Amino acid sequence: MTTSTVQKYLAPTRLEPALAALALPGGATVLAGGTDLAPQTEAGTRRYAAQLLNIRRVEGLAGIRDEGQAIRLGATTTVSEIRQSALLAQVAPALVQAAERFASEQIRNAATVGGNLCNASPASDLSPPLLVLDAEVELCSWRGNAQHTRRLPLAQFFLAPGRTLKEPDELLTAVVFARPGAGFVSRFRKAGPRPALEISTVSLALGARLQDGRLQQVRVALGSVAPTPLRARRAEAALEGRALDEAAIAAAVAAAAEDARPIDDVRASAWYRGHLVRVFMEEVLHDVAEN
Ligand SMILES: Cc1cc2nc3c(=O)[nH]c(=O)nc-3n(C[C@H](O)[C@H](O)[C@H](O)COP(=O)(O)OP(=O)(O)OC[C@H]3O[C@@H](n4cnc5c(N)ncnc54)[C@H](O)[C@@H]3O)c2cc1C
Repeated sequence: MTTSTVQKYLAPTRLEPALAALALPGGATVLAGGTDLAPQTEAGTRRYAAQLLNIRRVEGLAGIRDEGQAIRLGATTTVSEIRQSALLAQVAPALVQAAERFASEQIRNAATVGGNLCNASPASDLSPPLLVLDAEVELCSWRGNAQHTRRLPLAQFFLAPGRTLKEPDELLTAVVFARPGAGFVSRFRKAGPRPALEISTVSLALGARLQDGRLQQVRVALGSVAPTPLRARRAEAALEGRALDEAAIAAAVAAAAEDARPIDDVRASAWYRGHLVRVFMEEVLHDVAEN
């Protein structure tokens, strides 16, 4: 075992002591559901800081809140809660579809949205549906005896596998997105090596407003085809303002394949990943056109 020893375990119920622990020299390792952290520390690919900070009891970090114009997912909202949310089924069906295809019931009950984003895996399943919602992450820190809060578009948050724009003293406290307006459609697709407990080989989400048969404010996002989850900007441009006919669908399929930057790895070849991007793009667009 190459993991370092945890010297202090903290499980505060208020945000301030949690942020204060992160602000100390040496900081703290944040523990939410532990479904990424535990395997990583056990495998020796990640070391604990001297302080382990369990954030699951911190008031105000849990749950899904309807704020009228915006929807707020607290950082410790679990994948199961997303899956069971009637509000999200109505306003963000692709996010619920991603939660449905996520791991197993046991993992879904522990895994949190904050952990999924902060782990910054290119295969993070909640990222593509949140990217097509133009979601923002809320980051809090304790600096100079005061709490600081900033928001960043999720599209800018990821830097590389395991790396984000979050500073070590910052806690991701929430993910927030504007309530989608009338006519919003969204879809999610994911492929993995087996039917259950699968890490995505490729995932794709689409979000757009469908008005008079044309797509507006089109967002397409891809997972597992680049070092980070990403917006497929060429595919979005190919669809913006277009009627969903065969020509537009073919243009979007070709553009999405150009947006993807897949690699060969143990789970799939780059060729197969590119193929899945084409298939999923075509599938979701036909699905929207026919329904
Ligand atoms: C068997 C198995 C199957 C899986 N299947 C899937 C799957 O289908 N799809 C998928 O996307 N993922 C999958 N995962 C990965 C994992 O379950 C998810 O990424 C999960 O959402 C991580 O959340 P967590 O709360 O468990 O994070 P943790 O493991 O607690 O934390 C993950 C990382 O984020 C940091 N962190 C957590 N919360 C915060 C916060 N609020 N602020 C700052 N830093 C924070 C931690 O310090 C750690 O570095 C699977 C994992 C396992 C073991």
